[in-house]
Order: sequence, then structure tokens, then C-alpha cells
Amino acid sequence: MSDQRIRVRFAPSPTGPLHIGGVRTALYNYLFAKKHKGDLILRIEDTDSHRFVSGAESYIIESFKWLGIQFDEGVGIGGPHGPYRQSERKEIYKKYVDYLLEKGRAYIAFDTPEELENKRSSIANFQYDASTRSQMRNSLTIPKEECDKLIGNGTPYVVRVKIEPGEEITVNDLIRGKVVINSSVLDDKVLYKSADSLPTYHLANIVDDHLMEITHVIRGEEWLPSAPLHVLLYRYLDWENTMPSFAHLPLLLKPEGNGKLSKRDGDRLGFPVFPLEWTDPKSGETSSGYRESGYFPEAVLNFLALLGWNPGNNQEILTMNELIELFSFEHCSKSGAKFDFEKGKWFNHQYLQKKTNEEITDLFIPILKEKNISAEKEYVTKVVALMKERVSFVKDLWEQVSFFFIAPTTYDEKAIKKRWKAESGKQLLELTEFLAGLNDFSASATEEPIKKWIDKKGYSLGGVMNTFRLALVGELKGPHIFEIMEMLGKDETIERTEKAVKILTSC
Ligand code: GLU
Repeated sequence: MSDQRIRVRFAPSPTGPLHIGGVRTALYNYLFAKKHKGDLILRIEDTDSHRFVSGAESYIIESFKWLGIQFDEGVGIGGPHGPYRQSERKEIYKKYVDYLLEKGRAYIAFDTPEELENKRSSIANFQYDASTRSQMRNSLTIPKEECDKLIGNGTPYVVRVKIEPGEEITVNDLIRGKVVINSSVLDDKVLYKSADSLPTYHLANIVDDHLMEITHVIRGEEWLPSAPLHVLLYRYLDWENTMPSFAHLPLLLKPEGNGKLSKRDGDRLGFPVFPLEWTDPKSGETSSGYRESGYFPEAVLNFLALLGWNPGNNQEILTMNELIELFSFEHCSKSGAKFDFEKGKWFNHQYLQKKTNEEITDLFIPILKEKNISAEKEYVTKVVALMKERVSFVKDLWEQVSFFFIAPTTYDEKAIKKRWKAESGKQLLELTEFLAGLNDFSASATEEPIKKWIDKKGYSLGGVMNTFRLALVGELKGPHIFEIMEMLGKDETIERTEKAVKILTSC
């Protein structure tokens, strides 16, 4: 690579919440920028007023804040190439529209939506291009004076690019290689609409990439069909030698692998497709987010990084620094990546285990407070240490550990049926007497003597241990019973056992 400064951009349209695929696009831009010590720009592409959704822009900004993806320039940050919101750059685009018109690379078209519709229904596969533009109402077919008159009296018009047919267009894609197409297949896309004095996506995107000195356009595969037009626009605007390189990322596919991942897949299979929870301002419908579902941002990013890219080996857990260091387009795949949300949970599990017990405790204490549990921090930390391996999310801890904080009031029916025998009550009461005599109640000190005692008594080890567990936990789950005893302490252990005997022998 030359010594030119690398500059990339993430350019979302604020048409709703940011899709998880968009997050991956932003991540790859971020990794590439960081790797080459370049700049990442956040540009908001809001020229399509019909699709604008209020709240979407702040949602996008908040999402990246949560994820820890920092931009160097852009909306909410500023920078030397601002404004970064396209709706605030109207005047800038007009100049280039005029330039294309002057050079004969674009023309003005007055066709009404009805007229276009009529054409579409009368001509199969109608396309506004070199073969049809002479039959339409535009500045190529209408005399200049009449055109000026129409514009003067406020007749709405659009500016269309005048695609020269028969030209070879090459898109050099860093992931897909060389893609060559003939310009004859392209249509004369609308570049500008007089109705709102705004350019369309294609023109604004090109002009901004040029003015913002973007060196690499890294974006989703859905934009690949637009790339030839973009290459042509660079040519028509005489910017060919500053044209950025393109990299079109593979699609994120449904978990089953057929078709593009959609919000509906998330609803159907119960996983979020948005980084943060989102409430649609029109319908009021709320969609779940990774943040609210209890994911760690680092886990989400690690998971996404590997959906369409690999580090060249089997390593799956990668720190942000490792991702930055290893990222390259050579290891990006051309084919779509199946969105395996179970794997997403697995990543969160791994990141949870990497956190210190204290960190998890700090996240768990507010959940305990909600349950009206006030316990010593030290005790909670011990519970966390013992139980974190069993969960993928902090919020799932409660379900696993509640018995450390509240004594059971009911006992698992199935376990009673299977394990509670006529002699169980008597055996457990004898056990409590034995426990009362133990001085050291730590797990390592109680295991041996208790096992010996059971053996000496001639009781079944499984029989006593299972009913004992039932008494302490309420179910046949949980960690090593001696660990549970140590955590609960002697008094609580005996109390729970006696209570269980009372309840279970009377039923
Ligand atoms: N505004 C486009 C989008 O929403 C940007 C595509 C591109 O990066 O060129 O995806």
C-alpha cells in the first residue's frame, strides 16, 4: 500500500435501527482503519426523506458508544470535512449536478410518475437508458427554451446520469477480485430531485467519498450492483485517479443458511438482530437488543468479526488488538456467513468466564437488589466464583444461585418421588446431629468425615446425599454439596435440613 493515509467511512441511512449486519460492516471498517493507523468517519446518509425515521441517528450513535467503536470524524464528533450529515450538504452536491449537466454526462427529465408507470406497463423490462431516453420527456428531447420554461414555472424534474452504452466498467473488489460489466446493462439512474433539492444516494455517496478523501469503501454485498455506476460516476466527474478501492462484504445469512438474515428470523428464533433495544416510533413495536439481552459488547464484536472473516487459524477468542492486527481482506470470504446465534451465546459465555469474579459481582448485585436480596459483597463474590461457569449471561445467574440466598420453601416433586424414602427423615436428622459436632465447616474439612459417617452407619451414600441436597437446594441441582454447606454455614445448613424433614415426612 502506498503511503497515502487510509480513510474509511461507515455511512448508514437513518431508516430504522442499525441491523447487526451494519454493525459488522462498521466493525470491519474500524479494524481496517485501526490496522493502518487511518481514520474512520461516520457519515449519515439522510437524503431520502421518505425513509427517514426519527431517533435512528441517535440510536446509531448510542450503539457504537456501547460497542466501543470510536469514530475519528463524523456526526456527533466533527472534523475538517463536515458537515457529515448529507441533508446539511445540499449546496455542495448541486455544484456537481451542474457540472455533469454541463459536460453532457447528465440530463434533466420531466417524466411524471404516471408517465413512467405507463411506459413500464407497455414495454416489458422497461429501463430508462440509451435505448429509451429519446422517447421520454427530458432535456435531450425537449427544446432548451421549453426546458427552461418548465424549470422556471416550478415543474418538478430529476437529473439523470447519461450512461454511455458499450463501455467496459471494471470494479476491482478487494474481496471478490475483478468484476467487469458492460455499461449497456445500466440504467440512467436519478442523481438529483428538484422536489427536495437533494441528490439521491448514488451522487451524494460518490461526492462525499471524494471530498472526504475516502480511500476504501467497505460495505455490504447488497451495494455490489451499485458499484459499476459508482465507478462510472468517478469517470464522469473526472475523479478516476482518486477513486477508492472497494470491498463488498459477504451477506449475513439466516441460521439455516438460505437467504439474508432478517428481523423476522430474530423474532422467529428468539435472538436479537439489533445492537440495542428499539421501539418503532410509528408502530410502537419493540425489538430486542444485544445490550438489553445481557451480551457483553466485546463478545458481540468478537462473534461478528468471525462472520465473514477468519484469522487464518482456528483461534476464536480474539481481543480487539488481535483483531486489528490480524484483519485483512484476503481472509474475508466471498460467500455468505450463516448467523449462528447459539455461537453468539457461546462467545458471551467465554467472555463471562474471562471477567473477574468482582466484575461479575458488580453486575449481579443490582439484580439481587431487584429481588430484595441484600447480601455481603464477599458472599456474592464467592457465589459468583462457584457458579459463573454454568451461565452465559449475568442475568441467568439468579436462576442458578437463588438457593444461596433464600431457603427453599418447596421441593422438586419428581426428586421427592424418586429419592425420598421412609428412612430419609431419620437419616437426615441423625446427619444434622453429626454436623452440629463439626468445628470446621469448610468443604475440604467436611467431605471426608461425612462420607465416613454415612459408611459407618451403613446408609447409602447416594440416598443421603440426594435427600440432603434436596433439603438445602430444593432440587437436585447445584455444585458440590460440601461447597454449598460451606457457603450456607453450619446453622443454616442444619436449619434447612430440619425444615425439609418436617415438611417432607408429613407429606
Ligand atoms: N447509505 C448506505 C447504507 O445505508 C451506504 C452504503 C455505502 O456504504 O456506500 O448502507
